[in-house]
Amino acid sequence: MKIRNPRTGEYDYEISPADADEVAEVARSLRAAQPQWGARPPEERADILRRWADAVEAHRQPLFEALRTDTGRALIAAIEVDGLPATIRRWADIAPGLIAAHSNADVQLANPTVTNSTRLVPYTLFGAISPWNFPIVLSTIDAIPALAAGCAALIKPSEVTPRFIAPLRETIAKVPELESVLALIEGDAETGQALVANVDYVCFTGSVATGRKVAEAAARAFIPANLELGGKDPMLILASADPEHAAKTALRASVVATGQACQSIERIYVARDIYQAFLDVLVREAEAVSLNYPDIDSGEIGPFIFAPQADKVAQHIDAAREAGACILTGGTVETLGGGKYLRPTVIADATADMAVVREETFGPVLPVIPFDTVDEAVAAANDSDYGLSAAVVAGTAEEAEAVGIRLEAGAISINDGSMTSMVWDAENESFKLSGMGPSRMGDSGLLRFFRKQALIRQNAEPATIAGFSEENLR
Ligand code: NAD
Repeated sequence: MKIRNPRTGEYDYEISPADADEVAEVARSLRAAQPQWGARPPEERADILRRWADAVEAHRQPLFEALRTDTGRALIAAIEVDGLPATIRRWADIAPGLIAAHSNADVQLANPTVTNSTRLVPYTLFGAISPWNFPIVLSTIDAIPALAAGCAALIKPSEVTPRFIAPLRETIAKVPELESVLALIEGDAETGQALVANVDYVCFTGSVATGRKVAEAAARAFIPANLELGGKDPMLILASADPEHAAKTALRASVVATGQACQSIERIYVARDIYQAFLDVLVREAEAVSLNYPDIDSGEIGPFIFAPQADKVAQHIDAAREAGACILTGGTVETLGGGKYLRPTVIADATADMAVVREETFGPVLPVIPFDTVDEAVAAANDSDYGLSAAVVAGTAEEAEAVGIRLEAGAISINDGSMTSMVWDAENESFKLSGMGPSRMGDSGLLRFFRKQALIRQNAEPATIAGFSEENLR
């Protein structure tokens, strides 16, 4: 399978997608190694994971170069690569204490002769299927706590961005105890389907359409499916907000990573009193943003990683223009050196029926809509199939929070935007079509990988069948 380079448009890399037999074989081998891994004390697993973090650091350069090519951007690639050892160490530090806190021995139950011990039993084989927008973060974010919990882990990254897999495998090979319980496989949709058929718990990050298919397959396989899907995050800017500050915040939260982030701000509702002032700053600031072309070490916006995404974004913009919206800046996908780019695109006079307001756009596009009352803004924000996250900006945090709790979304940024990309310890669960299952952030990120097993001890003579004789009623 030939892989496109997002900066040159050339197909300069190849993978051999694992077929169903290969996936089953890898799964068998991981399963065979898991009992020993799961039986290790949590501290021992944590120490092994720390050695993996060291190996990632020692291998930073090849990982960084591969990810930079996969994604066509340098700074975020560096952040992803450097974030990996930090995330591994974070879970290594937290997991043993959390496991101890949620296990207990010989607790007296309501029945005076009975005590109980709670054991946390990890799922045997965890599987991850991940998208192309943050390839390293999203293929490891769930696997690391799963490993810390004692599961074996099988990861299938996106076929759009597979170059980082080879150098990441090399880091795993440096830690033999880990190598037997952690594997990455290259492949596409079929490989993903085979993964679902072979694991005991699947975490899927990607689109709603594929998430539905994964959930259906998981239901047939009778395994839990944790789904992290798309979003259409609204930002509400109340009349008390400072328009300058709000516009700069909205711009960053919308266009960072070329808007290719699930938690990007994709619709902005602004109080009419400050609408014009807000738009003026937004356009000025948007026009100061530049592409990382031709020099990857300059500018703020990289190419679209997945070429068909650029076409979809262009369709959203064109349809809005044709329906009467006003493109104040940006608006045209440019092909430069074979890569596809879009400058920040500010759309005024957008309306609720436009695709750019309803559907996930996944590009640096900011439709801005004025509102007269807060009730109207809340209703517009909630008029969506999605409920990933949202943001409210106001003069005070209290005012923003009072509006934030009325929004149907799993995480609300107060006086900022897209904060779930920066904060990893705040538990949140997606609403509506944006996902299903426990939070990947916070303690639940680890605890979801256990089943609780009760060891219920009878400390007196067990009851006999005689105690259930009908005659006892007399
Ligand atoms: P996608 O759904 O097209 O693909 C995701 C993964 O699923 C890929 O690895 C793909 O090979 C695999 N796949 C495809 N069909 C499959 C099938 N039938 N069975 C099993 N696996 C299959 O998503 P994408 O285009 O790579 O990523 C973009 C989407 O991801 C956006 O919608 C974005 O919002 C979402 N996303 C969500 C989060 C989150 O945390 N909620 C984070 C990042 C991205």
